[in-house]
Amino acid sequence: MGRTDDDTAEASAGLHLLDTHYREHPQTGPTGRRATNATPGTPLNIGIVDHITRCVAEVVDHARTEAPKPTGPLPDRVADIYDWYLQHTADAGPEARLRRDIIIKRQQMEHAIALGDHKVVRTHWCPGCRTLGLKWNSHARRAMCLNGRCLDRHGAGRSWTLARLATQYILDQEIRARRAT
Ligand SMILES: [Zn+2]
Repeated sequence: MGRTDDDTAEASAGLHLLDTHYREHPQTGPTGRRATNATPGTPLNIGIVDHITRCVAEVVDHARTEAPKPTGPLPDRVADIYDWYLQHTADAGPEARLRRDIIIKRQQMEHAIALGDHKVVRTHWCPGCRTLGLKWNSHARRAMCLNGRCLDRHGAGRSWTLARLATQYILDQEIRARRAT
């Protein structure tokens, strides 16, 4: 389970930032460097609240489906949901654990994108051409490959969802881990 520790910590940190800052101060950045115009009574950032709710629900649903034992109450702090997830799926089957790691990785990337960190896709290999050079397209909500020779069958540049990148990343890790043993 050690190989997911960094991704879990990052996912947790991202969720914590979204939960504690964006939820309450939709008009300022996470660092608080920009002057705030938020007035009392400013509504919550509904998009962020939805995002957090959806992510937590996905984790809880999967944990409750796969956990060998009853999962008990959820943690008090929303960002602790990933530790709770790992704890309750530690003895689940290998496929369930792989699926869990993919969910955590994807959510870690989704939190980064929600926080405006579009660079998160740059460290991922393109699943099509296996080179680095992906760029996030906010409109399409996909990572576009900038390699001019990486084309689909219609001759258009290829692009990937975060789910696809997360799956590739975890499967690559799994292959490396198997080779190492
Ligand atoms: Zn490519």
